[in-house]
Amino acid sequence: MPTSICKACARLMKEKEDFPRGNFDSDYCASCVDHKGNLKPRDIIRVNMIRYRVNNTGVSEEEAAEIVDNLMRSLPAWNKPKTPTT
Ligand SMILES: [Zn+2]
Repeated sequence: MPTSICKACARLMKEKEDFPRGNFDSDYCASCVDHKGNLKPRDIIRVNMIRYRVNNTGVSEEEAAEIVDNLMRSLPAWNKPKTPTT
C-alpha cells in the first residue's frame, strides 16, 4: 500500500479511504477534492484543517488558524512556484 502526504493539507494518506476514489496516484487526499476529483477551494480546505486541529488537539480556533496558515504556506498546492519535494 503506497503512502503519501496530501499536497493541500499535509494529511498522511495510507488507507484506501484516504485517497480520492481509491486513486493512489492522487496528490490530494479524499477530503481535499470534490466528487469530480478537483481540488477544493483553499478557503474550504483551510476551514477543515482548522476544525480538525481544534477537535483533535485541543487548541483554540485562533491558535489553530495560525498553525494552519503557516502550514499552508509550505504546502505545494498553495505555494507557487512549486518547491521541490524531498
Ligand atoms: Zn488533503
